[in-house]
Amino acid sequence: MRFTRTKAIVAATGLALSLAACGGDDGSEPEVVTDAEFEAGTTMAELAEAGSMTVGTKFDQPGFGLLGLEDTPEGFDVEVAKIIAGAMGIAPEDIEWKQATSDIREQVIEDGEVDMVVATYTINEERAQRITFAGPYYEAGQQLMVNADNDSINGPEDIADNPDMKVCSVTGSTPSEQIREYLASDDQLVLFDIYDKCKDALGNGQVDIVTTDNVILLGYVDGSDGEFKLVGEQFTEEPYGIGIEKGDVEFCEFINETLADNEDAYVAAWEATAGEVEGTETPELPEPAPCV
Ligand code: GLU
Repeated sequence: MRFTRTKAIVAATGLALSLAACGGDDGSEPEVVTDAEFEAGTTMAELAEAGSMTVGTKFDQPGFGLLGLEDTPEGFDVEVAKIIAGAMGIAPEDIEWKQATSDIREQVIEDGEVDMVVATYTINEERAQRITFAGPYYEAGQQLMVNADNDSINGPEDIADNPDMKVCSVTGSTPSEQIREYLASDDQLVLFDIYDKCKDALGNGQVDIVTTDNVILLGYVDGSDGEFKLVGEQFTEEPYGIGIEKGDVEFCEFINETLADNEDAYVAAWEATAGEVEGTETPELPEPAPCV
C-alpha cells in the first residue's frame, strides 16, 4: 500500500516541479525526474514521498560550496547533490542546505540532521566506521598555498626548515592530520573551523601557509587577485565521497547509479562551477567503490 501511495505522490509532485524547474536540457539545472519509483521502506522512497531533503555542504569554498547572495550555496558539490535529489523527484528549491564544516560531517549524518553530506569529503577508513560513502565522484589531492612573494616554501618538505612559519588548516580535515609529519613541531599548526578563516589569516600575515585540497586552494587563488599562489605538487590522494547513514547500501548504490547515468550533467555541473576556476581540469567520473 505504502509503495503505491509513494508512487502517486512522487508522480504528482514531479509534474508540478518539472513545470517549475524546467531543467535538464541545457545543463543549467539538473533534471527532476517525474516518474521515479522506489521500493517501499528505502531512503529513496521516503525522500521522494517527502518531496524534499536536507543536504550538508560547505558554505565558504569557492567552486565547490559557497553561500551565494541568495543565501543558497553554489558550487560543484551543490550541483552533484542536485543531480541526486533530482533523480528522486526533488527539485533544487526543495533542498534544505545546512553548513557541514569538516569537523561535524560524521556527526550530522549520525544524528540524522542531514540526509547526505556532499562537502569535499575524503573517503577514508576512519570515517567509514561511522558512515557510508557513495562515490568517489572526484579525486583531489592535498597541496600548499602561500603568499605570492613567499619563495621559501616550495613543497611540504620546506615547512620544517622554516620553523617560524605557521601552517593553517581546518579541524577534522584529513590535510590537518597529514601535514603533521612535515612540521618541526605542532606549534606550527593553526586550526580553524573553516578554510575561509585560514585564507584571511594568510592575507593579513597571521599565517604563512594554508594547506588543504588543491581544488579548494585553487578557488582561493582565483579570487585573490594575484595575492596567493599554489606551490609544489599534490602530496596525498583525496577521493571525494557522498556521506550517508552507516549501512544504507541501497541509497549508496542508488547514488552511484544516478551519477553514472548522468555523466553529461556531471560534466556540465563541473564546467559551470569549479571548472571556471583557472588551473582546474574537467574530471571523468571515477569508478565507484563498493557500498558498505
Ligand atoms: N577533503 C579533505 C577532508 O575531507 C579536506 C577538505 C575538507 O576539509 O573538506 O577532510
